[in-house]
Amino acid sequence: MATTVQPTAGEATKQLINYRTDEGVGVIEMNDPPANTYTYEMNRQFDDAILKARMDNDVYVILLTGAGDKFFSAGANIKMLASVDPTFKYYFCLHANEMLLRLEHTPKLVIAALNGHTVGGGLEIAMAADIRIARKDAGKIGLPEVNLGVLPGTGGTQRLSRLVGKSKAIELMVTGNTYSFEEALELGIINDIYERDGFMENVMEYARQFCPPNKAAKAVGRIKRSVQTGWEIPLEAALALSGRQSLKPNNARVGTGTPRPSRRSEAPQRYSTMIAATKARVSPGRLLINGEWVDGSRKFDTINPATGEVLTQIVEASADDVDRAVKAARHAFEDRAGPWRKISASERGRLLWRLADLVEQNIDELAELETLDNGKPIFESKYVDMPMVVDVLRYYAGLATKIHGETVNTFETAFTYTLREPVGVVGLIIPWNFPLLLASWKVGPALACGCTIVMKPAEQTPLTTLRFGELAIEAGVPPGVLNIVTGGPETGKAIVRHPGIDKIAFTGSTAVGKEIMHSAADTLKRVTLELGGKSPNIVFADSDIDNAVKGAINGIFYGKGEVCNAGSRLFVESKVQDEFVEKLVGRAKKMQPADPLDPKTRMGAIVSQEQMNTVLGYIETGKKEGAKLIAGGNRVSVDGSKGFFIEPTIFGEVKNDMKIAQEEIFGPVLATLSFDDVDQVIELANRNPYGLAAAVWTRDVKKAHMVSRQLRAGTVWINTYGLMDAALPFGGYKSSGFGRELGAHAVEHYTEVKTVWLNTA
Ligand code: NAD
Repeated sequence: MATTVQPTAGEATKQLINYRTDEGVGVIEMNDPPANTYTYEMNRQFDDAILKARMDNDVYVILLTGAGDKFFSAGANIKMLASVDPTFKYYFCLHANEMLLRLEHTPKLVIAALNGHTVGGGLEIAMAADIRIARKDAGKIGLPEVNLGVLPGTGGTQRLSRLVGKSKAIELMVTGNTYSFEEALELGIINDIYERDGFMENVMEYARQFCPPNKAAKAVGRIKRSVQTGWEIPLEAALALSGRQSLKPNNARVGTGTPRPSRRSEAPQRYSTMIAATKARVSPGRLLINGEWVDGSRKFDTINPATGEVLTQIVEASADDVDRAVKAARHAFEDRAGPWRKISASERGRLLWRLADLVEQNIDELAELETLDNGKPIFESKYVDMPMVVDVLRYYAGLATKIHGETVNTFETAFTYTLREPVGVVGLIIPWNFPLLLASWKVGPALACGCTIVMKPAEQTPLTTLRFGELAIEAGVPPGVLNIVTGGPETGKAIVRHPGIDKIAFTGSTAVGKEIMHSAADTLKRVTLELGGKSPNIVFADSDIDNAVKGAINGIFYGKGEVCNAGSRLFVESKVQDEFVEKLVGRAKKMQPADPLDPKTRMGAIVSQEQMNTVLGYIETGKKEGAKLIAGGNRVSVDGSKGFFIEPTIFGEVKNDMKIAQEEIFGPVLATLSFDDVDQVIELANRNPYGLAAAVWTRDVKKAHMVSRQLRAGTVWINTYGLMDAALPFGGYKSSGFGRELGAHAVEHYTEVKTVWLNTA
């Protein structure tokens, strides 16, 4: 930034902001009496104090006031502004505006105690607070120094129109009048006037009523946010804020290590009425750009696959919207004086931990949204997906402080070391099968490493990601750090093409993964791809057959088979083929599709009509290819709804070169094949373009290890299927993609390594 004058010289050592906490109240005092004018350095210290107050779990209310007894604040230092060049002035105003935005959007109540004149930029600061209380006869309030053409200044006065209406706000701004506090009360600019005597004590007492145990402080934050965004809070979520304990995460896992439901009662009453019952609890979608929820002109419907009915409307982000989101993310990443660059690794960890806490507190709501949008059983979203989201965020909260470079011994006359720096702005593109879970796999390491984000959920399932965006604001993620743009392939393409993005983390189909690689080549983006699969599940005759049957069922029917690592190719040793298949079919037939919101349901609705038609098409192909349909194969109706349900389907007598054995169906369709010996099954299992996962069932440990080594797959399970953990890397071989998510390996993809040489000669 070019400046003609260094306006902060000498100020850096001055304490221009006092910050203290007092029984739940964080007090920010502007300390440049008599006028408390703000400058670059004061803004910087002000910003620090806001961040401290919002990150402090023991602070519930933020109180602003001025030191001395003459001025609350006269705002910007006009003399200083006149002496700097236009570029500096521009950035100065931009920063002041952002600071006020942060204040406005902090999920804590902000009260301004107007202890004296509140004029010019001082009015802007006061306007960014939620409640203004003035000291009787202490001064004037207004915009005396304003010249036409200067406004809207640092942006605070724009808030005037929300309080007094557009016309009155414009009048106040163009006339540059000041008013007594009594007049201001009548105008609605301030909320109350307190007597001079005991003014601060009485304001503090007022503030403390919003701190526990007097009031549910979190509810205050939610009320503030919902008023600002115009969103309604579902009754249930509001009740949750008044102290109802939410579900604690359990050690639930996908797979035959069957997820353990919590001991908490499963509220059957609530879900026993049919599927559409909760539709009313869904809010329309908006875009999250630079910490603000914004609308868009084009909309699309998101559908409840269990009923075929529209849940709500979602914004389809245009290339311009994506551009604004990228610019916000770039600014948040590059602004060296901004909050994101200034917070330490440990603070990033705390932020992630707080986000995990908020997800945990809202598990019921998030799980329900996921089930409504995706059709997966509530049992899965509530006891498996959401608890793992919490686990993943906490894992990366802990990892944030363990990301480091190394010192390397080279020459006697050099000190050489490496730094691990965030890769920059990352574009996260998410599929529909585990919407929030797969988002957390990317958001966790991205934030831990210090990247900023532009994220796009799948067009079929945007609801939980949008709710997550709200929780991120509540957790204190600064504006611009997490941007969410909803939309379909065109929105995704705009992200991939954008030169302001440094890396794409994509999970989705192999076809789209290839397209992304091509497109990303133009701007030489880093790319990681988690793609499709056709995973072999190999059962040897010496295995525990009953367990292996359960594993095969979970392997293919968990998540309606819409699981990238589904065990969709089942190889059974021919000696036990008949016994195994009989048990398998018996279990599959018991697993009929049902209302996804019923906690007893284990087979939900296929995500969309399009996907249902694709799956039914593959079932027809299987029959034509000569495979034997031994279970299911049909679309079914549940409780008379128009939902997209398909029976668990099993084909016998499948040959490895059939389409249903080679291509990813991504639905509840299992192809069973038989084999006679180890070498044959290894060769068959590997003869497929994909390489995401595989499983081996045997009591012979040596054989288990030997086969695992031979299988070309990113994950191999032995005597289990589908287990996952935040600490273990996950990713594909071959056409299943490259790069690893989860675990410490993910850090490699969200950081760059820098080498530093220091000549010590
Ligand atoms: P998809 O590839 O159709 O879409 C995934 C995402 O990419 C969506 O958000 C979509 O809007 C976006 N998109 C579509 N076309 C795009 C383009 N040209 N450029 C940029 N973005 C684009 O996949 P899907 O149908 O949502 O998900 C199913 C697929 O995801 C399956 O193949 C499944 O195996 C795979 N998947 C893989 C993993 C893994 O970890 N390997 C996990 C889950 C799902």
